[in-house]
Amino acid sequence: MLIFLGTLYLYSPMLPLYKLILGAFCISCFIFTSYVNLKLNRERYNVFLNALEARVQHNAAEERGKALLLLSKTDPLTGLENRRAIDERLRDYWQRWVDHRSMFYVLLLDVDYFKRYNDRYGHQEGDRCLVAVSHLLRAVVNSHGARIARYGGEEFIIIAQHQSVEDAIAFAEAIKSAIRTLALPHENRRDGTSIVTVSIGLSFARNQTKHLDRVVHEADLALYAAKKGGRNTVVVFDPGDARTRDDEEDIAAILKVAVNQRLVSLVYQPIRNVQTGRVAAAEALMRLRR
Ligand code: GH3
Ligand code: MG
Ligand code: MG
Repeated sequence: MLIFLGTLYLYSPMLPLYKLILGAFCISCFIFTSYVNLKLNRERYNVFLNALEARVQHNAAEERGKALLLLSKTDPLTGLENRRAIDERLRDYWQRWVDHRSMFYVLLLDVDYFKRYNDRYGHQEGDRCLVAVSHLLRAVVNSHGARIARYGGEEFIIIAQHQSVEDAIAFAEAIKSAIRTLALPHENRRDGTSIVTVSIGLSFARNQTKHLDRVVHEADLALYAAKKGGRNTVVVFDPGDARTRDDEEDIAAILKVAVNQRLVSLVYQPIRNVQTGRVAAAEALMRLRR
């Protein structure tokens, strides 16, 4: 602008009045465009700031989302994965089993007489006990390449790739022994033991297993058998073993429909007095035809 005005003033043959008018016109155009430019640039700068803020907010929201997702899959007390997270893992293991027959097993662990532990030492100490158990389990399980979660209350679940039955049982026994070596006092058990122990139910994905829930259910039946068998023990689910069969459940289901379908009948069994030989009473029996 300055060069133009200088050239106009010094070298143009125009009349001074024209030079003045042309110079004033150019200067007003310059001021006007500069003003418009300034406004535009300010707008651009605001757009840039908004975009920057939006990106920062987006990143923060993404971080928050990740943190929330992690939180929703983590047990707040022990820091282990929770049931929701392990259900996803179970589905992955199950899918690999369905697709490639890649075998896996499930361990359900339950702390023995834990209600009594709380009664004796209080819930806070109970929480500390669960944390100690979970830390140990995490260490053992990580070194074995398995997955662990808190399945609920004082129950934990472990899933691992299956090598052999012996390997799975040895792993379960190692876990049981490791908990014992923690030697957490539990004086309120009244079964002769005075430290915290766990019972473990073990089940495998088998060819007969039609559904993922069944694997967990079978581990649960085995755990139940371990409890009935005196606790602090490992029981493997075996469909041929009466201890782990869920007949009782079958009967409960059958009884619901049995009366209407006339599957139940009544018989009397006499009770005889052996001295007099006379029938003294009768025992009524309900027979269930299956
Ligand atoms: P069993 O040997 O048959 O497993 O007996 P148990 O007493 O361990 O079993 P039961 O299911 O009767 O009791 C489980 C107890 O675990 C009841 C509940 O108060 C306690 N519990 C569950 N979750 C927690 C927890 O997060 N913290 C504490 N302190 N206690 C818990
Ligand atoms: Mg329990
Ligand atoms: Mg228990």
